[in-house]
Amino acid sequence: MPPSAAHAPAPAPSASHAPAPAPATTHTPAHAPAPALAPSAAGPVQPPFDTLVGQPLVARFLSTAVRGAHLNHAYLFIGPVGSGKTEAAISLARSALCRNRGTDRCDDCIRVLRRAHPDLHVIEPEGVEGYLAAQIRDLIHDVTLAPVRSDAKVYVLTRADLLTGASANAFLKTLEEPPSSTIFILMARTAESVLETLRSRCQILAFRYIPEVEAVGVLAETTGANEEQARIALAAVGGSTMRAREFLRSDTLRDARVRVLGIVERMLEADALDVLEAARELTVAFKAPLDELKAQQAAQLEESRDFLSKGALSALEKRSTRSLGAREREHIAAAFDVIRSWLRDVLLTRIGRGEDIVNVDFRANIGRAAAGATESDLIRALKAVDEAAERTRYNVSVQSIFESLLFSIREVLGHHD
Ligand SMILES: [Zn+2]
Repeated sequence: MPPSAAHAPAPAPSASHAPAPAPATTHTPAHAPAPALAPSAAGPVQPPFDTLVGQPLVARFLSTAVRGAHLNHAYLFIGPVGSGKTEAAISLARSALCRNRGTDRCDDCIRVLRRAHPDLHVIEPEGVEGYLAAQIRDLIHDVTLAPVRSDAKVYVLTRADLLTGASANAFLKTLEEPPSSTIFILMARTAESVLETLRSRCQILAFRYIPEVEAVGVLAETTGANEEQARIALAAVGGSTMRAREFLRSDTLRDARVRVLGIVERMLEADALDVLEAARELTVAFKAPLDELKAQQAAQLEESRDFLSKGALSALEKRSTRSLGAREREHIAAAFDVIRSWLRDVLLTRIGRGEDIVNVDFRANIGRAAAGATESDLIRALKAVDEAAERTRYNVSVQSIFESLLFSIREVLGHHD
């Protein structure tokens, strides 16, 4: 494919440092579809950036770069939760790792979408304070290895703001001079939170905040869910449209939400023993999606056996164990998102805005809870959720975190005779 005539990003490592969104090129090559927000009617397979919702500038910028083979080797995606950074990163990985630049639905595409492609590395911080030195060491070493399936390798670092200190320094050289066809995608909520030394080596793409009503509309349109379900999904995953889509597709995740809310509601009547039992159930409820994930990973490893060397296989195994740790935290965080959204509904009802609640399928008990608690009680309970979430960063057992959280909620909402 000839290079596109559009304003392409500079291919040099010293690319644009401006924290502005993608240059707004108005040029759309005739051979390419316009960056549509809605699914294309042409067929089931869409070029990857067409599904990136609410970010037309970023989508156009990246499509242009991919079409013209002007991909940079390091990007920094900046934007709030729910702005589609992860989705864009996955789409970019697909473009880089698929032989048809992600316009088909080949085995490589499917593996990337399932985040099970051996040349796609999604790296989340595993330490309390951020990335572990060992993680970055492994990353630096891995970069020196040849790709396994594709002609390129993609590394996504989900929290570039937590890459600091000696690890950041060690990583700098790799970021500056990676082997050709290696792409780093760093992500963070704000540009300022990322070390200047890292930032200056990346091309920065700013993702706009997507208002809830817009996200709900897009989710409903792209998944077939109704508005109510879309709002529930967004609230249950803390606002990420990509995770909301996963939520709408997964029976396990939806069941987990219902179970969590059922347990929280029981706190209205609970005694101390009930709380302990509920915490145990909650722990179990959140193991189910994890077990599903473990089974998936095991299957993926099995599939990879034929084409991976022993060394690569053991590296993959090691990474699976690690990503499970990160996913475990993600799943527990999901429980907190669900509980938070329920408490917020109680608070809304309490202040007379009951028509705005999200968890409409739990309306009856939300009303009861609102009748028995004061506004400041509820704010305290919401704070308890934040504190519980914070504690998961330390080495505290999940069950004991749930126990103290449920005790706090019961203190606020329960009937104490
Ligand atoms: Zn493909």
